[in-house]
Amino acid sequence: MVKLNENFGSLKKNYLFIEIAKRIKAYSEANPEEAKKLIRMGIGDVTLPLAPVVVEAMVKASREMCEKETFRGYEDSGAGYDFLRKAVSDYYKSFGADVPAEEIRISDGAKSDCGNIINIFGSGNTVLVTDPAYPVYVDSNIMNGNNVIFADSTEENGFAAMPDKSVKADLIYLCSPNNPTGSAYTKEQLKEWVDYALANDAVIIYDAAYEAFITEDNIPRSIYCVEGSKKCAIEICSLSKTAGFTGTRCGYTVVPFELVRKDSKGEEIRLADLWARRQGSCFNGVSYPVQRAAEAVFSPEGQKQCKENIAYYQENARIIAKAMDELKIKYTGGVNSPYIWLKCPNGMDSWAFFDMLLTKIQVVGTPGAGFGKNGDGWFRLTAFSTHELTTEAMERVKSLLA
Ligand SMILES: *Cc1c(COP(=O)(O)O)cnc(C)c1O
Repeated sequence: MVKLNENFGSLKKNYLFIEIAKRIKAYSEANPEEAKKLIRMGIGDVTLPLAPVVVEAMVKASREMCEKETFRGYEDSGAGYDFLRKAVSDYYKSFGADVPAEEIRISDGAKSDCGNIINIFGSGNTVLVTDPAYPVYVDSNIMNGNNVIFADSTEENGFAAMPDKSVKADLIYLCSPNNPTGSAYTKEQLKEWVDYALANDAVIIYDAAYEAFITEDNIPRSIYCVEGSKKCAIEICSLSKTAGFTGTRCGYTVVPFELVRKDSKGEEIRLADLWARRQGSCFNGVSYPVQRAAEAVFSPEGQKQCKENIAYYQENARIIAKAMDELKIKYTGGVNSPYIWLKCPNGMDSWAFFDMLLTKIQVVGTPGAGFGKNGDGWFRLTAFSTHELTTEAMERVKSLLA
């Protein structure tokens, strides 16, 4: 009889977005007129279309696929075309990180790489995840039967958990700028994590999906801006938020050649070789038109157009942050991130605040409790709406809470 992976039974029910949808549906059915005014400030997906140069590149590459002379089948390596790995490497250079093209592998997005990367690690590791966190870090480890422990991100530390030297972790997940809290590590804070990882022979999985939203100079765009990181960190990034690729699918993961650990026989193993083997066996690359589209993101014109879209979202984040400032509501994020993570007023819990915004002013956000225990009492608003709706939603919030 086939045996199932019973670790799945240990996963928390994925009830956050289901519960949100359920409550919106119930409210809308009972109040059809009010429901017409709903504004969704909970979306974690981009809303602006792809940049024109990106689409042009994708169309041109699609045409190449129609001609016998230029058609492309499987890519030789599956690591990504050289043109794109070179473009990503140059992009890293533009913010001071030295990442050679050979250390970069192109993927279909950050979520799959975040989930698949644990294939290269053995069982029995102590895995440290910040709480609150993006769910894939915990879930992928639970599915593999690993022991997950948490580093608390709280109001006291500005929702930027720091290492506790009395705790010994083997694998560490960090996300900066953070989803859901919008907080971002400074270079000094990241250095502390790098030093901790090096001291413990641990490996950091660094999710940089929101690097393009960074506006402050002391917030590194990559963990490789921090000294020592190449000996302890894998970086996973994505074009989803940078360039609106959530429906196009392209990302990249860096495993530096300097990142070496000993196996049980004492033999030194390059983690990049394990990742190459894992991907070589289980992944066949990203489509050619998408890789050409991704290449265009990193062209000067692509950067200009993508930055215009990000600036649009950043303006929304400012509109939300300004409303919070006026209401004297505590929050993190909004400066280096499309997320504003706010403290529910009057000691309300996340779900009570959710219900209040939904039923009183028809504004939908995301209860922080869905991202971990430290999220309770907190709430996430996102900048991925329009200026008009964001402004309207904040006017309603102000009239409700002022
Ligand atoms: C959106 C997001 C990603 C990107 O995932 P893709 O699979 O590349 O779309 C990665 N990490 C976090 C924390 C995110 O919020």
